[in-house]
Amino acid sequence: MKTLTCDVCKRTIHDPQSDRNYYHLAHRELCENCKDELELQLKPIVRTRQPFNYEWYDQLLQDSIEQSILKGKIDVR
Ligand SMILES: [Zn+2]
Repeated sequence: MKTLTCDVCKRTIHDPQSDRNYYHLAHRELCENCKDELELQLKPIVRTRQPFNYEWYDQLLQDSIEQSILKGKIDVR
């Protein structure tokens, strides 16, 4: 069976299916839990950003993921 490892929490994702049980973000592979947690933590940051800018968001996403990988869990603060 095909498996994949989440880049953040290092958990094994069995039978990976993009956008169903894993998510490809900023050139990284995230499991569903990590992706949900990331969105949760980014929400208040994104909400205060006016006007919203995709370039800024891409950079924020990438920085947040790289930072989380170093910590082994989603931790944006
Ligand atoms: Zn994960």
